[in-house]
Amino acid sequence: MLSVSDTEAIIFNLVQPLNTQQDTELVDLLAAGDRILASEVTRNVDFPHWDNSAMDGYAVRYEDVQDCSDQKPAVLEIVEEIPAGVQPKSTIQSRQAARILTGAVMPTGADTVVMQERTRREENRVIILAAPKQQEFVRKQGIYYQAGTQLLPAGIRLNAPEIAVLASVQCTQLNVFRRLRVAILSTGDELVTPEEPLQPGQIVDSNQYALAFLVRQCVAEPIMLGIVKDEPEALKLAIAHAIAHADVVLSSGGVSVGDYDYVEQILESLGGKIHVRAVAIKPGKPLTVATFNNDARPVLYFGLPGNPAAALVTFWRFVQPTIKKLSGLAQGWEPVFVKALARQELCSDGKRETYVWGELDLKNRIYEFQPASGLQNSGNLINLAQTNGLAVLPVSKTLIAAGEQVQVLQMGF
Ligand code: AMP
Ligand code: MG
Repeated sequence: MLSVSDTEAIIFNLVQPLNTQQDTELVDLLAAGDRILASEVTRNVDFPHWDNSAMDGYAVRYEDVQDCSDQKPAVLEIVEEIPAGVQPKSTIQSRQAARILTGAVMPTGADTVVMQERTRREENRVIILAAPKQQEFVRKQGIYYQAGTQLLPAGIRLNAPEIAVLASVQCTQLNVFRRLRVAILSTGDELVTPEEPLQPGQIVDSNQYALAFLVRQCVAEPIMLGIVKDEPEALKLAIAHAIAHADVVLSSGGVSVGDYDYVEQILESLGGKIHVRAVAIKPGKPLTVATFNNDARPVLYFGLPGNPAAALVTFWRFVQPTIKKLSGLAQGWEPVFVKALARQELCSDGKRETYVWGELDLKNRIYEFQPASGLQNSGNLINLAQTNGLAVLPVSKTLIAAGEQVQVLQMGF
């Protein structure tokens, strides 16, 4: 049985991110949110595009006002009014100024803006009551971004700030990585869909639903392959289909050592290379990880445990970072752990790395963790509701007392 950290290292090493040549598509800026840039963005326009004013005030020549004060004000003739969006007509000569508004283009001849609050207006003259600094309140062309340099690097997720930046330089089409295709199938004779009438002994396939949502959260495309019976032939067909159509396959169930647990055998019979067979994690021990070397590209197979809590814990711990890394994200794909204070004692038998689900809260800038009430066992799906963190008890740690620190894996995206 592998440790959690060895498992993580093995899996993350198997990941070959999407190809920057073949695995990309063009998307419109409006649809680009959350997508990952496949190539760097470089533009041929400066930002700001022109020298412009950062204030409402007067554009002046510094030499005309450098010595002035309210005792000895400078008096300048106003030769033009320049609102934002207008190209100035005049060149500012000695002892002249232009009325200028925030964002408006600086007129030639002027190099400094005096803010309105330090002036007094007298008809077509302005009285400057305090000396500005040279070039004060002028946003110089290209100070924030110079044409021809890298604006955004490849491998970043596009969020609101990046979308605004791209819009500001009129970049309306982006080369992003295609969405990863993630096939999801559930195995088990006992499983039915949420729509089917429940017969005695049957269990609803909740994993398919939860996993589909988690895959979408990773901005990947779930391919829902439904429920497959515990029959080797049917399973083999379904798994072969999944491998042929997806980048990642997530099955749940059928990976234990029970009489109907065929997944591992089938993976091998289909030519899969098995890298992980069992992990010292609780819940989630019977995790299987395999790779297939398809013609087009490798496929990563995760045989998740059937127990809903175990399936989710192993997804957050191993699958989510894998999907993010595979999707082309250059940084920040790793699982996020935070240090929190345990509000209640946390227990484990110490044999495997144990994940306790509960509520992670930020109180007065300190994270606190409250384990979910009710039984913490992999069959208890119900008390996973309204939790957002998994507290980690390392192997051989049997108790974390109330008030002690604990590492918590954030469940969110
Ligand atoms: P297995 O890993 O196939 O032995 O399943 C372990 C437990 O998880 C059994 O109680 C199953 O009924 C349950 N289970 C398996 N697959 C699912 C699923 N897709 N949704 C909900 N429960 C499941
Ligand atoms: Mg089963």
